[in-house]
Amino acid sequence: MNQTLFISDIHLCEERPQITALFLDFLATTVKQAETLYILGDLFEYWAGDDDLPDPYHQRLVAGLQTLSASGTRLYVMHGNRDLLLGQEFMQACGARLLPDPTVIELYGKTVLLTHGDKLCTDDVKYQEFRRQVHDPAWQKTFLAQPLANRKAQIAGMRQQSEQEKSHKSEAIMDVNAGAVARLLGEYDFPPLLIHGHTHRMNRHALNISGHQCERIVLGDWYESGSYLECGMQGCVMQDIMAT
Ligand code: MN
Repeated sequence: MNQTLFISDIHLCEERPQITALFLDFLATTVKQAETLYILGDLFEYWAGDDDLPDPYHQRLVAGLQTLSASGTRLYVMHGNRDLLLGQEFMQACGARLLPDPTVIELYGKTVLLTHGDKLCTDDVKYQEFRRQVHDPAWQKTFLAQPLANRKAQIAGMRQQSEQEKSHKSEAIMDVNAGAVARLLGEYDFPPLLIHGHTHRMNRHALNISGHQCERIVLGDWYESGSYLECGMQGCVMQDIMAT
């Protein structure tokens, strides 16, 4: 079937067995029928490094993704803020291709800009500082040189801190900044469609940026729903596997 699917913010982890089962079922059924699946970041709740691939939980997920790509569905993965350490070993094991953030694609004749979305949350100055640090290749190299158990402990600490900080941050600060969205679209010559995740605020926004009509589609997360965006020749529709 000529369909392309987009998902993000699945936040897979062993502590969420129901979402894990739902996701594996989604791969084996809905996605198997599609020509391409784009995972736009935060597939995992966290990723400490590709040396964590032998973990049995990770092996189950890799097997599901590998079966999918071997059956002929193209698989693209973009880093999120939680799984930005997913590396080439993971991609190879899954038969996936890593996409830079942002990426421009042609989708049934339409130019579409893809991004995870965290870079657009510029009102959260403290987060952007943290983001710059963890995207620094030198920082990543030093971090990955530590033993896996140390990395996992540090990530657990960071996650706890982030949860605490989030409770003090306003809703507005954690959303995308309209100026940052306009700038990004301008940098790419105003593509008619931008798709991103990260904020978990599933919605479709019609934008007019200096005379250019653009739509911004925000993907949903996988907590109360199993939402995905289904695109074909006729356009894009939000779907929810929990509703079917
Ligand atoms: Mn995110």
